[in-house]
Amino acid sequence: MYRLRLPEKRILEIILMNAPLIYESHSHTPLCKHADGWPVDYAAVAEERGLKGLIVTCHNPMPDGFSSGVRMAESEFGRYLEIIEEARESFAGRVDVRLGLEADYFEGMESFLEDQLQSADFNFVLGSVHPQISEWREKYWQEDLVEVQRTYFSLLAKAAESRLFDSLAHPDLIKNFTAKAWDPLKIMPDICRSLDRIAKTGIAMELNTSGVNKTIQEMNPMPSMLREIAKRKIPVTLGADAHIPDRVADGVEEALTLLRDAVFEQVSYILNRKRYEIPIVDALASLKPREPVS
Ligand SMILES: [Zn+2]
Ligand SMILES: [Zn+2]
Repeated sequence: MYRLRLPEKRILEIILMNAPLIYESHSHTPLCKHADGWPVDYAAVAEERGLKGLIVTCHNPMPDGFSSGVRMAESEFGRYLEIIEEARESFAGRVDVRLGLEADYFEGMESFLEDQLQSADFNFVLGSVHPQISEWREKYWQEDLVEVQRTYFSLLAKAAESRLFDSLAHPDLIKNFTAKAWDPLKIMPDICRSLDRIAKTGIAMELNTSGVNKTIQEMNPMPSMLREIAKRKIPVTLGADAHIPDRVADGVEEALTLLRDAVFEQVSYILNRKRYEIPIVDALASLKPREPVS
């Protein structure tokens, strides 16, 4: 009887095509006071969507009441570690749940962050400049909104140069808070100067899919900025910035397609603060197909 023998390389390809590869690298918990669902709930969605893992990156505690309404308190940090460990144990062998953090970059707080980031075994640390919080507005806001945008992009480069973080979150977020004055062509020279500085540090940048739900409805960063990131060979991590379980991996296919169009070949994720790369074609093939519409 004739037996079909596939070459080993092809067998490996078939196994790899169905194997989960992608980590959701930006997700939250109720401890930040503006998200719903526990890490176990987010992990369940990660499993449904065919992801390999989930990195929980809730908003970090900051000292002296700094924007305390949108982040966990320092006293809740132990609880944060527990809920992630709980999810890690319940999903062992199914979804690789990991401890991460989204830490605010704010000038003058570098040494606080340095100590904080050594206080636990974080797998992945996102660095965020959040121009919407009152502390940021008090320090940097001015009437000329283009100047505010310039300040934002220069702080993004400073965040990279602090070498505290693994990836810069939603790196054109400012556009949503200065939408009236947002002109990509006008600000692009400033963005490029910032990216030149960022590229020298080896940090990654995030493609954040939640931007489609914001004032300017496109992912962060915009496609023209993604192309500048690709030119400088800055690695990109993916994140849905899920504040509800259902948004885990939301828009990931579109994000991978945007990366491919910006002429990236790889997408990155970070574990144990070390970067790994997946070819974009493999990442796309690894996702579970959406339920067919009947
Ligand atoms: Zn948030
Ligand atoms: Zn976030």
